[in-house]
Amino acid sequence: MAEQEPRTAVVIGAGIVGTCTALALQEKGFSVTVVDPEGPSEGASYGNAGVISPWSCVPQSIPGLWKNVPRWLLDPQGPLAIRWTHLPFLLPWLLRFLQAGRLHRLPDIATAMLAINRPSLAHYRRLLAGTGAEDLLLECKYLHVYRHIDGADPNSLSWRLREEFGVPLEVLRGGAVQEVEPELSPDIQSAMAIKQQGRTVNPGRLGQVLAHKAMGLGVEFLPHKVHAIVPLTEGGYRVDTDQAAITTRTLVVAAGVWSARLLATLGVRAPLEAERGYHLMFRDPGISINHSVMDSKYKFVTSSMEGGVRSAGTAEYAGLNAAPDYRRAEIFKALASDLFPNLNTDSTEAWMGSRSSTPDSLPYIGKVPGYAGMFCAFGHGHLGLTGAPETGRLVATLAHGDSAEINLEPYSLARFKS
Ligand SMILES: Cc1cc2nc3c(=O)[nH]c(=O)nc-3n(C[C@H](O)[C@H](O)[C@H](O)COP(=O)(O)OP(=O)(O)OC[C@H]3O[C@@H](n4cnc5c(N)ncnc54)[C@H](O)[C@@H]3O)c2cc1C
Repeated sequence: MAEQEPRTAVVIGAGIVGTCTALALQEKGFSVTVVDPEGPSEGASYGNAGVISPWSCVPQSIPGLWKNVPRWLLDPQGPLAIRWTHLPFLLPWLLRFLQAGRLHRLPDIATAMLAINRPSLAHYRRLLAGTGAEDLLLECKYLHVYRHIDGADPNSLSWRLREEFGVPLEVLRGGAVQEVEPELSPDIQSAMAIKQQGRTVNPGRLGQVLAHKAMGLGVEFLPHKVHAIVPLTEGGYRVDTDQAAITTRTLVVAAGVWSARLLATLGVRAPLEAERGYHLMFRDPGISINHSVMDSKYKFVTSSMEGGVRSAGTAEYAGLNAAPDYRRAEIFKALASDLFPNLNTDSTEAWMGSRSSTPDSLPYIGKVPGYAGMFCAFGHGHLGLTGAPETGRLVATLAHGDSAEINLEPYSLARFKS
């Protein structure tokens, strides 16, 4: 009897989500092709803040958030920017964002966030084992720092939510903050520390190492841009690219913020916004930082990485194709110096990338309704580095024909029907 041919799978997108999905599919016995005109992890996966955050369970939209919006928008150093020409396009997403932030929604969203994020560190340890690049992953704390001694308030909504979900927390006041992170300014007077966290010292290289591992296992990476997905009458799909057409029975859309447009051509709607973020690398920082440090006022994260110290964050809604506004990165010079007075800011490098953000901070993971053999794996917003490995595992489980162990309804593409 002839040996059974391995099942083929095509993954669109070679970011951290596509790469982790390719590895998981390969493990399930699929013959995998990843299609992306860019190299592995050149998109949002390249320049993020490197936080691997198993305990993240607080969505972006929470009750009362809107009260901060005018102040944030008016402050040129604030964490939020909207290009007003984009506002009419943003409005429907924004309304859903506000709806998702109602108090009664929080427990379900937190549960679903944790289901994707909790296994992240264990997954990365396993994926990196034997690559020689295990040191890309460090264990650390995630320090949310405040300028006021009472700023770290365990009774505030978001910290109470974390507490209820068993997040390992520690409150630091006064000099205890600088004992944990000595380079922090004495003006930082309190912090909430999330324990049992991880970070990577180079998100781009992490994605590339995993892509090379996948290549070594037979996964093919094609530098092609996908133009269209064409369902075939005999079943499966033809993936039209700028160079060739590929046919496959199993297709995963993992193209980050570009995914919604690819699916729109099939009549599949997925509310998704480009939430653009920036980073500034301080190339010769003169200091070393032990943990991931979140400035609770200005909402950006600073940590030591390969090649310097990186500050990353901000949310800019300007549409998918608008030119970067690197002033949004340059503000980190002043803000990071304020946190770390000994930081040398002479040599810097700016970067912009787009988070693919859903209104409820939950990614789209699972079957694409109406399209047998097609799966979605995008919309990870602020937490795609963290959520990528579990996303890949879940998609590969479904593609293999097995049921997921967790309820996938919260990640369904159909959840914003109304
Ligand atoms: C400033 C900033 C800080 C962040 N910090 C963190 C953090 O600390 N921790 C965390 O967990 N997450 C963080 N994130 C979020 C995280 O970076 C993203 O959620 C994650 O990288 C998304 O990965 P992805 O693979 O879905 O998308 P991407 O990395 O954007 O990859 C998508 C890929 O699809 C490809 N593609 C697009 N269109 C096509 C097409 N037509 N054909 C073929 N390929 C196509 C693109 O070229 C790209 O390579 C941060 C994001 C930003 C912007």
